[in-house]
Amino acid sequence: MGSAVVSNLLGEIMTNNAAFSIAVFPGDGIGPEVMEPCLGLLNEMTEQIGGFALSFASHEAGAELYQRTGSAMPDETWKAAEEADAILLGAIGHPEIRYPDGREIAPQVDMREQFELFAGVRPVRTYPGMPVPLADPRAQSLDIVLIREQTEGLFAERDKGVIEDNQLARDSMTITRAASERLFGYAFDLGRKRKSAGRPARVTCVDKANILKSFFFFRSVFDEVAAQHTDIDADHCHVDAMALNLVRQPWSFDVIVTENLFGDILSDIGAGLMGGMGMAPSADIGAKHALFQPCHGTAPDIAGQGKANPTAMFLSAAMMLDWLGDRHEVPAMQEAGRKLNDAVEGAFSAGDLRPYEFGGSAGTAAITRRVREKLGDAA
Ligand code: ATP
Repeated sequence: MGSAVVSNLLGEIMTNNAAFSIAVFPGDGIGPEVMEPCLGLLNEMTEQIGGFALSFASHEAGAELYQRTGSAMPDETWKAAEEADAILLGAIGHPEIRYPDGREIAPQVDMREQFELFAGVRPVRTYPGMPVPLADPRAQSLDIVLIREQTEGLFAERDKGVIEDNQLARDSMTITRAASERLFGYAFDLGRKRKSAGRPARVTCVDKANILKSFFFFRSVFDEVAAQHTDIDADHCHVDAMALNLVRQPWSFDVIVTENLFGDILSDIGAGLMGGMGMAPSADIGAKHALFQPCHGTAPDIAGQGKANPTAMFLSAAMMLDWLGDRHEVPAMQEAGRKLNDAVEGAFSAGDLRPYEFGGSAGTAAITRRVREKLGDAA
């Protein structure tokens, strides 16, 4: 048991705080490099804010473990993830370490299935001072959330597709009423939460209903759910038009909800709007479980060089604090989530913090230092 775990457990006993266990997966490549400072900040904030306690148990899973042992995620680790209050993950995988059939090592994707983490929540938020690619001033204060369905769609056939006689390949799309209803229900609930925070809430369904029957069905279920949430505006957009709109006028959207593969692609456009993969956080939300991780992969090209941008990891941890606080009614955790977000915003607001991925020279340590300073200022 690490000293951080001991000190948090002691804190919990002494103050009788709301206590939560976090299953931590540092993972491969830059995963451990962004996870370590993140846990450091979470420990400091827990002490600073009070009212809750976190205990972290770290687990090995991923490509490097698979290469060494033949298992990407042992049974006892599955059990620990299932029993934890939340899962915090750095990044997992390596392009050159694969299963014999060529698939990438991705226990985080298996966890989505196993724990039914049906909503992939990908906020696209930018702040003044952040180095964003679009010149329009409105791109400097984006606040969109993209929700990606994560249990079916084209990914339902992940390891079941066929190649016949080297002549034909086939994967099929699955859209069910049950999964679509819960997805859209989540999207409208989020829209309502954002409306109560003063945003002009609107939920946009992204599909290809003009061509594929599966998406015609997806859209018709969306319309049924929208009819039960008339306090929130709803509309549709074909995926090709959305790709264009996200580049031309992303500020005109609020909550975007879509199928698994479309969401996978559009959320990378979202990360691009934020300037880079190192800025984009995510949450995989289910009815009982939730996993929080940066959108980026393990970035083997920069691993071990101190160049990884830890911002997406910090923002994912902020989402975890907000989710736990909301679910267990611990306002201090939601406050902690807001403070972490504000500290990131404050870190970039002077406009002089340029991560390596933007061509600057701020590495993991420099960005962490600046965010820590801002947290200190807010204390
Ligand atoms: P995956 O398929 O696992 O999502 P990927 O191959 O799409 O991974 P990433 O590992 O996310 O890609 O990396 C894409 C590019 O972004 C790489 O050039 C990488 O160095 C860069 N990158 C990703 N994450 C970060 C980060 N946190 N900080 C700096 N650069 C990053």
